[in-house]
Amino acid sequence: MIDLYRVLPDEMDELVVKLGQPRYRADQLLQALYHNSPNTISELNQIPSSMRDALVEANYTIGSQSEANRIVSDDGKTTKILLKFDEDTFIETVLMQYYSSQGGHPRSTVCVSTQVGCPMGCVFCATGQMGFKKNLRAEEIVAQVLYFAHHLQQRQEHVTNLVFMGMGEPLANYEETIRAVRLLTHPRAFGLGQRNITISTVGVISGIDNLAKEDLQVKLAISLHAPNDELRRKLVPTAGPNSVKELFMASKRYFKTTGRRITFEYALIDGVNDSTKTAAELANLLKGNGAHVNLIPLNPTAGQFQRPARKRVLAFQQILRDGGVNCTVRVEKGVEISAACGQLRTDTIT
Ligand code: SAH
Ligand code: SF4
Repeated sequence: MIDLYRVLPDEMDELVVKLGQPRYRADQLLQALYHNSPNTISELNQIPSSMRDALVEANYTIGSQSEANRIVSDDGKTTKILLKFDEDTFIETVLMQYYSSQGGHPRSTVCVSTQVGCPMGCVFCATGQMGFKKNLRAEEIVAQVLYFAHHLQQRQEHVTNLVFMGMGEPLANYEETIRAVRLLTHPRAFGLGQRNITISTVGVISGIDNLAKEDLQVKLAISLHAPNDELRRKLVPTAGPNSVKELFMASKRYFKTTGRRITFEYALIDGVNDSTKTAAELANLLKGNGAHVNLIPLNPTAGQFQRPARKRVLAFQQILRDGGVNCTVRVEKGVEISAACGQLRTDTIT
C-alpha cells in the first residue's frame, strides 16, 4: 500500500501518466487531497471513477488516522491532540494560536512530531524518557498538519507556521522529515511558506550538514542547553564527547552555506545550567557570531528538574545580552495541558 499523502507532485505527474491519464489529473488529485480532506479514495470526486478504481487497483490508499484524545487550554489558544495511526502509532500534535492586538487572523502554529518516542534520551524531556518506539512516515507528519488545517478551515482560519518541536528528533528521521517538508511547502501540494517552518534538532551533525545542502529556506534551531561538554552530556546523554564544539562548527558551516542564522535553544533548569557563571561561559562561546539564543524555562515533566525563578531567567538573559548575544525568552504555551516543549509523551494515555 502506498499512501497518496507521501507522493510528491513530480511523482504524482508520473503516476497519473502511468495510469493512462492526462497530466492535469495530477493537479486535480493534489487539489482534492490538500484542500478537501478526503478520508478515502472513493471520496475523490474531482477525478473520474475509473481513475479512482485504477488507484485502488495499483495499491494506493489514503491513510486513516483518528483523534484518540483532545485537550484545549483554559484560554482556548492551545489545543493538543492525540492521533492514532495504528495500534502502535500514537503521537501528540499541538496547535498554538497567537492573536495580534490589531485584530485580524491569528498566527496558528502547528507543532509536529517526527517519531514515536525519541532515541536521544534528554533527561529533562518527557518524550526522551519514554524511549524510542519508531520513526513516523512522511504521510504521518503531513497528516498532523492537515488535521489542524481542516479544523481551522471551519472557522475561516489556516495554518500559518509549522515547528518540528513535537515528539522525536527530526534529523534522526531525516528522509521522511524532508519529504514531509517538501509536501507541506510545495505550491501544488499544501503550499506553506518555507520560511514559516522551523526544524529543531538536538544536534545530529550529518543532518545539519545535509539540510544546508537542500534547496529549502526553512529555519533551523539547535538545542544546545549547555556551554561545555561536561554539562551537556549530563542533560543529553547521547551527545558525543565534543558535542558543543562540533555543534558550534556545524552551525558556522550551515550559516556559510545558506546565509541563514541559527537559533540556539536553551532549556533553563534550576540549579543545573542557570548560574551566572554558565551564562558568562555561554556568552563567551557565542559572542560575535550573530547567534540568537532562545531560553526555554523548563516545563515540568515527571523528572526531578525544576524551572528557575523568573528573576534568575531574566538575569541569565541579561548576561547574554551584556555579552553581545541576542537572547529572548520563549513565551509559554499550553503548560497546564502538558502541551508545552518537552511535555509530550503517549505511553500513559494509550
Ligand atoms: N528533538 C528536537 C525537537 C523536539 S524538542 C530537539 O530536541 O530540539 C523541542 C524543544 O523542546 C527542544 O529545544 C527541547 O530541548 C525542548 N524541551 C524538551 N524538554 C523540555 C522541557 N521539559 N522544558 C522545556 N523545553 C524542553
Ligand atoms: Fe528527543 Fe528533543 Fe526530547 Fe531530546 S529534547 S529527548 S532530542 S525530543
